Amino acid sequence: MASEKEIKEIYENGMNILEDLTNNVQEIQEQVLEEILKRNAGTEYLSRFFPNGEADNQSFKTNVPIITYEDIKPYIDRIASGETSSILLAYRIIQFLLSTGTSGGQPKLIPMTAESFEKRMSDLLLSDLVTRKCFSGSDEGKSLYLYFIKPEMETPSGLKASFFTTFYFKTESFKNGLAKFCTSPIDTILCLDNKQSMFCQLLTGLLQRDEVVRFGSTFASVLARTIKFLEDYWRELCSNIRTGYLSDWIIDPGCKNAMSLILTRPNRELAHSIQQICEDKSWEGIIVKLWPKIKYIHCIITGSMSQYVSLLEFYGGGIPIVSPIYNSSESSFGINLKPLSKPFDVSYTFLPNTAYFEFLPVGKDGEGKAQETWTDDKPVDLANVKLGRYYEVVVTTLAGLYRYTVGDVLKVTGFYNKSPQFQFVERRNVVLSIDVDKTTEEDLSKAIMKAKLILEPLGIMLTTYSSYADTSLTPGRYVLFWELKMKGSNDLPKLDAKIMEQCCCMVEESFDFTYKSHRKGGAISALELRVVKHGTFDELMDFYVSKGVSVAQYKPPSCLKSEEAVKVLNSGMVGKFFSPKTMF
Ligand code: AMP
Repeated sequence: MASEKEIKEIYENGMNILEDLTNNVQEIQEQVLEEILKRNAGTEYLSRFFPNGEADNQSFKTNVPIITYEDIKPYIDRIASGETSSILLAYRIIQFLLSTGTSGGQPKLIPMTAESFEKRMSDLLLSDLVTRKCFSGSDEGKSLYLYFIKPEMETPSGLKASFFTTFYFKTESFKNGLAKFCTSPIDTILCLDNKQSMFCQLLTGLLQRDEVVRFGSTFASVLARTIKFLEDYWRELCSNIRTGYLSDWIIDPGCKNAMSLILTRPNRELAHSIQQICEDKSWEGIIVKLWPKIKYIHCIITGSMSQYVSLLEFYGGGIPIVSPIYNSSESSFGINLKPLSKPFDVSYTFLPNTAYFEFLPVGKDGEGKAQETWTDDKPVDLANVKLGRYYEVVVTTLAGLYRYTVGDVLKVTGFYNKSPQFQFVERRNVVLSIDVDKTTEEDLSKAIMKAKLILEPLGIMLTTYSSYADTSLTPGRYVLFWELKMKGSNDLPKLDAKIMEQCCCMVEESFDFTYKSHRKGGAISALELRVVKHGTFDELMDFYVSKGVSVAQYKPPSCLKSEEAVKVLNSGMVGKFFSPKTMF
């Protein structure tokens, strides 16, 4: 891992902006807030909080309430229905961004201005620069980045609404910038049919296999899906390469046209090498075998994506996984200044010029569980967060969000110059709940990480998981879904009931005191573990995509709330196990 000193050296050559930003956190944050108020204090939304007309930074912090999406939704809905956007912000909204956050429920509409988009771009570029500087030689090759879009929607006002990734991939800055280094032709990225798009992007990636130095996507979930797709389609991809003919189910004109410029001749030799690699029973390290010059995998792998760490480590043959950025439709938050950090050690350094940030202290009890009630503490500024403390991030943006809680809980892990670095902990509203017990996303992830260690020596890999609270019974129980496969192959492992029961016990043992006392007292039934076959979680992703979620921004839900989603996973069930009736 690069040391602080080495990292500093990297930045000193051309990274002065970053030094400047991280050294002047407090001043820049105050300026950002001043600017936001100068422009927007007179809007219908903000003006009522400044009855005497004085809208300075201090009165903002005293008078303006901390809100959630529901509080601002009436204003956003009015703008979406055709009222002027000046009820919320002075600058023109260019379109809305669709945010799913938890991959469930109705997407939120988040206003975006030209300026807020540019701010996000500068964070993306800085993050890219930091990463490239860490890997010498990676500037020379190409990126096999799997990118997808989703159709835009139009609000009654005529303003468009799309996922950020969809908006970004259609911009000139993407087409003339990052896209130039990608193996995927822009038309394959812009194809609305995700299956045709995936096939063509993988095909172009394979055709240029000796040039690829980076493999990535937005989120780790997309790469997990890509690997499954490769397992299902490598023979057909090889046949396309061998014959020089594109499969006839690729009918999208953009894809066909782009592929006709790349798949120009039969290439038996290349097809043969790829076939030999894919025929190997074990797919361990398949990514580096297929693309031997790859230096790193690039995708967000923290938070709910951390469930894919073992999968990507296995298929990536141990090459570094770089989790570059922490952002959302509402704002860009921070970038990873230590690209070589192991996935579970990744922290994001907040950059003070993107928005005005505040932090609500979140209590954690002895077992590391987020308390259910807010503490009375007031929010603190970016410059005043304390090492080791947990906070929920509150953001005020140039695009019409004022003291808006995003719902993410973060932990302060250090500082780069004066700028705090945060580890992503969990999404606050994602909890399994029965009676008075609340088991958070982080509790669940930690417990499952411990339990899966029981399976690893047996060569069994947990590729992904989810859960739900089954309250149709009294008392209710938590149900886990695990997708399992053998390390060397896609075969379903032989499931030993005793061992699976041990896994259930380990999960329960790892839960907190409240869970265990309710379980022992009989208020919660024995935990159930349902094993599903390989590919079932892909069907879950398809289900959410059919409901409007974008593949590029899909976040696997750690706790399911929808019965339909539970049904999808149940349909792939191959085994069911329980903890012993009583817990000792
Ligand atoms: P969306 O607005 O749909 O893109 O979702 C944004 C949400 O994705 C954030 O609020 C986080 O919960 C999650 N997210 C984004 N980036 C990261 C990251 N680097 N690590 C963990 N979670 C992330």
